[in-house]
Amino acid sequence: MNLKVLDKRAIAPLVEALMDDYRVVGPQAKGSKFTFEAVTDPANLRFDYDTTILPPKKVLLPPQERLATFTLQEDLQVKTVLETEPTVLLGVHTCDLKAIQLLDEVFSKDFPDAQYLAQREQTILISLECLSPCDEHSFCKDMGTLTASEGSDIHLTEIDSAYIVDATTEAGEELLARYATVRDATEADMQKLNKELGAKWPKFNYQLDFETAKLPSMLEAAFEHPLWNDLGDRCLACGSCTNVCPTCYCFNVYDEVDMLLTKGTRSRNWDSCQLDEFARVAGGENFREARAARQRHRLMRKGKYIYEKFDELGCVGCGRCIRTCTAKISIVESFNTIHNGKK
Ligand code: SF4
Ligand code: SF4
Repeated sequence: MNLKVLDKRAIAPLVEALMDDYRVVGPQAKGSKFTFEAVTDPANLRFDYDTTILPPKKVLLPPQERLATFTLQEDLQVKTVLETEPTVLLGVHTCDLKAIQLLDEVFSKDFPDAQYLAQREQTILISLECLSPCDEHSFCKDMGTLTASEGSDIHLTEIDSAYIVDATTEAGEELLARYATVRDATEADMQKLNKELGAKWPKFNYQLDFETAKLPSMLEAAFEHPLWNDLGDRCLACGSCTNVCPTCYCFNVYDEVDMLLTKGTRSRNWDSCQLDEFARVAGGENFREARAARQRHRLMRKGKYIYEKFDELGCVGCGRCIRTCTAKISIVESFNTIHNGKK
């Protein structure tokens, strides 16, 4: 490992230089909250952000995107649309990084997703070590996403007025060599790094009353648990919890055809298993009509179904769904309720 040091004053020139060749996306303030947005002025970047409203997933899987265009003339012609661009995604926290690793699996296994993979291919990830929790809703320590040794191209850890820079891929090394002004880390820098990393762990609390390895079997046994009815009674079916989730990836595909029925566009937008119409099929049947069943489905996805399919839990502990839920439904409380056998 050949660690470098990037002075904070060197970040703006680095981002300026990157902006000549890439779309640079990073955390910026939006009112009292933060969002990942394309950078127009490096001074707006906020590496001190707590969490963002939407996860950086939106860069790789936009809330709405065109998939294909087609003609409806005698010979049907379909053209795949790839609206991708070279991107540097800056300041990704390790929980969101872990979520991107999961999405990489999801979108490359079984049915490779042309749009996601094309944008992913053109995206350089620069992640940021969290040195304190976002807030009381984070449970990244439980979910094992509090730090990351892989998944990004460059990983940054703040030490005083600089960042320790760990380029973990060739793309990361090339970016540093071409755009950044860095120096080799000294013994004193390494001591600061170890001090920061040592100090961070006690600042994060465990929120779950059990080891997450138990989640799949625990949920399997809880299929008929009365909790689902309680959650179903409280849930407003707004879909916010899934919209803000870095690991939710369901989308709706729809076609738009011109007035003369000669050509059209196929697009997709994010969907939510919590919406009333999500499971409505032809004939008007809805195979997951009850909100209780939809609440169960979401938590089963997070702690069991995704694990069974991809060998990874479907939750990274970012806490966004808890923060956003107006009905005050908490995935942490739900999991603990099931574990502790409460009714
Ligand atoms: S955010 Fe809360 S109220 Fe809205 S769908 Fe999710 S659980 Fe239900
Ligand atoms: S389920 Fe909630 S806590 Fe888990 S990754 Fe999704 S938004 Fe974050």
